[in-house]
Amino acid sequence: MRILIADDTLFIRTTLASWVESMGYTPLLAADGGEAMAIAERDGVDIAIIDWEMPKLSGMEVIRALRANPCTTYAHIILITGGDEQDRLVQALEGGADDFVRKPIYPPALMARLRAGARIVTMRQEILSLATIDSLTGAINRRHFFERAAEHLAMNRRRLSPLTVLAADIDHFKAINDSRGHAGGDTALTCFADTCRGELRPLDLFARLGGEEFAVLLPDTSATGAMAVAERLRAAVAALAPGSGGPMTVSIGVAEVPAGAETIDATLAAADAALYRAKANGRNRVERAG
Ligand code: GH3
Ligand code: MG
Ligand code: MG
Ligand code: MG
Repeated sequence: MRILIADDTLFIRTTLASWVESMGYTPLLAADGGEAMAIAERDGVDIAIIDWEMPKLSGMEVIRALRANPCTTYAHIILITGGDEQDRLVQALEGGADDFVRKPIYPPALMARLRAGARIVTMRQEILSLATIDSLTGAINRRHFFERAAEHLAMNRRRLSPLTVLAADIDHFKAINDSRGHAGGDTALTCFADTCRGELRPLDLFARLGGEEFAVLLPDTSATGAMAVAERLRAAVAALAPGSGGPMTVSIGVAEVPAGAETIDATLAAADAALYRAKANGRNRVERAG
């Protein structure tokens, strides 16, 4: 749990940090609103404790900025207020705060609020994981793959760095299910996913599109580079020993996202067409689109 503490008073900042640490959470300290935003964008934040009155960006301005940023929009925000006028509290909550504490801060009250916030953050993370991750393989699901791909396209509109897509389909998977049973088929799927992830970089998006069909989005990778990645995946899967998920093989199609593409759909279709060529040409192969 990453807890951002933004307060311009050093004593308050360090006191809050020691309470947060005593609860087993990680404090991230900011002396003003600008620093708070920079830390939130760089490290991410689960709970933010924000002082209302700070120089440069005020607490309310920081809250607006956190809510406006997709990376921090769901942070749980606790505002520290000087006074306890009802209007101020209404303004804080209407302005995007989830909760507030008054100065002087009563430690047990803040800690109880942090625990309540942590429950909400944990629940949200669990729901998010259920909605985006395939429970069998741990790969991201189809819907999330398209969402994340759209983010990549938006960030890299002018295609300053290349972006490629792999479409992968396990060969004769029906036969694997028939010979090892459905549970054996599931084990093969899990091993396939683990093997692929072992060959990919942390920023590559590995997704299960459905059944035994997978896709990978490779940022900063040209079609030539992606052919090498695909070949590495193919070889690693083909090398799986019996009993550790194998034997099995995979066919893969590779396509580069063209400059100006607004969605990933056409590239995935091109990778799929290349994949079917790999199937037709004997399986356990990699083919490039175009
Ligand atoms: P090809 O080499 O042409 O791809 O042949 P294939 O047998 O792999 O292709 P096909 O699409 O005919 O079969 C896919 C099989 O995958 C059929 C389906 O029952 C099985 N399958 C889909 N989802 C799961 C799953 O979650 N677990 C298991 N065990 N099997 C699954
Ligand atoms: Mg202050
Ligand atoms: Mg198949
Ligand atoms: Mg298939």
